[in-house]
Amino acid sequence: MTASLEELPPLREVIAAHGLSARKALGQNFLLDLNLTSKIARRAGDLTACDVLEIGPGPGGLTRGLLREGARKVVAIERDSRCLPALGEIAEASGERLTVLEGDALALDPRPHLTPPVRIVANLPYNVGTELLVRWLSPTEWPPFWSSLTLMFQKEVAERIVAKPGSKAYGRLAILAQWRAEPRIAFEIPPRAFTPPPKVTSAVVHLDRLESPRFPANPETLSRLTALAFNQRRKMLRSSLKSLGPDVEAQLTSAGIEPTWRAEQVSLEGFCRLSRVLDGTN
Ligand code: SAM
Repeated sequence: MTASLEELPPLREVIAAHGLSARKALGQNFLLDLNLTSKIARRAGDLTACDVLEIGPGPGGLTRGLLREGARKVVAIERDSRCLPALGEIAEASGERLTVLEGDALALDPRPHLTPPVRIVANLPYNVGTELLVRWLSPTEWPPFWSSLTLMFQKEVAERIVAKPGSKAYGRLAILAQWRAEPRIAFEIPPRAFTPPPKVTSAVVHLDRLESPRFPANPETLSRLTALAFNQRRKMLRSSLKSLGPDVEAQLTSAGIEPTWRAEQVSLEGFCRLSRVLDGTN
């Protein structure tokens, strides 16, 4: 007889049975406490009428949490083929609500497997986490295919996502995330919750997408502008943005920004206003 989700063995046993020793190169730090994985799944909201995209299920701790919280369907992308048999057992126990795609989340398009509304939930491999977030926040069409993201990051990255002007953590990631979504740090998770424990504290960040960006701006202009401004964040804007042309000081002033300010003094709204001035669309 097939085991139900509740009857599956503890994750430590699953890891031992399938020889899933953690590999550093794949960013493998596993969560084995099913109470904690259910807590992360709950933070994503009501999953019963949603498809969930999970990146890096590993031995399936978070996957089990998502399914136990009633996800309509979970599509999980895992690069490490050693994890597939354990994930197969979860698929069976869930009444085939789990589809596992083997491959690299940076190369694989999961959209054909997903039906909206889609929530993305993941304990991300640290080496690809920020890149995936930036991609999810920068599609050519907005709104994107997902409606919320519930993601684990190193605490330092989580702080960059929610940072406000005037802080060291404020930069391009804050601009992008807060322009198109409402990001919040949900809770922190100490290193000892993981096997093996990472060196740093982690945090779960929840982002609800906005139906349209918070302020009007052309995404390419905003991206180019914030790259220039924050890549030389200690310089005054009249100097870091000099390559934008001879009128940059006047353009800054007309956007309500002092040319002597530094990037971290400019609000998201200010950067959007400057983008429109540069594009002549203000
Ligand atoms: N979700 C599991 C948990 O919470 O215990 C595992 C999380 S572990 C931090 C990251 C997982 O992502 C590993 O299972 C790893 O094999 C997988 N992974 C690493 N790089 C990947 C990639 N490019 N695409 C898909 N999965 C990847």
